[in-house]
Amino acid sequence: MMRRLAALTAAAALVAGAPLPANATTDNHHPKCPNGYVGLTYDDGPTPETTAALLQALRAAHARATFFDIGNNALAHPELVRAQQRAGMWIGNHTMSHPNLPELGEPAAFQEIADTQKVLHKITGERPRLFREPFGAVSDQVRADVARLHLLEVLWTVDSRDWAGATTDEIVAAAATLQPGGIILMHDWAQASVDAVPRIVSDLRARGLCPGKIAFTPKDVPYGDTVFHAVAVAP
Ligand SMILES: [Zn+2]
Repeated sequence: MMRRLAALTAAAALVAGAPLPANATTDNHHPKCPNGYVGLTYDDGPTPETTAALLQALRAAHARATFFDIGNNALAHPELVRAQQRAGMWIGNHTMSHPNLPELGEPAAFQEIADTQKVLHKITGERPRLFREPFGAVSDQVRADVARLHLLEVLWTVDSRDWAGATTDEIVAAAATLQPGGIILMHDWAQASVDAVPRIVSDLRARGLCPGKIAFTPKDVPYGDTVFHAVAVAP
């Protein structure tokens, strides 16, 4: 899928595949995470069939992840959003009804994002800080909406392809390509991704990496030919 990423103005100065800036994700590590952090992300929840099992798997692995919830799913199952929160997960905004925002146009696109902020705030008592656009479909107007709502746009550096029917083995293999600060796209509803949790986390730990929190980095972090501001930087 073609995606235009933030901070492209900085791309010209960066060499494709360049290594991480020395301090981008390597400061202040926990001793068990000498090589830093990666972001595990699960989109489209909450899901009655799978969210509880996913939370159980993450907790058993002592891992925290970011859930990009759909507002309508949250309204239908607020108890599962609260379960995500209780399990120590970070909760982000993934719109009310999962439209293609650039095609939807304004003011509906802004309303999709703003309404989801209200829904998730009401359920959790906290305003989400992170946003992921459905299908990774973005435009300058959508980026302006995201900024107006004080949200950080979070794309991904690795696509598990669980949405396309990837097997657990394939998802584990995709996660094995995560670099420090990287973010993997998975889905709350994908049983294969639930089953992959223990192996993903143990493989990461064997590489000195820990699942971490996604935050803004003022440094441009290159991955291949793209540049990210949102990377996993902290426990
Ligand atoms: Zn989605």
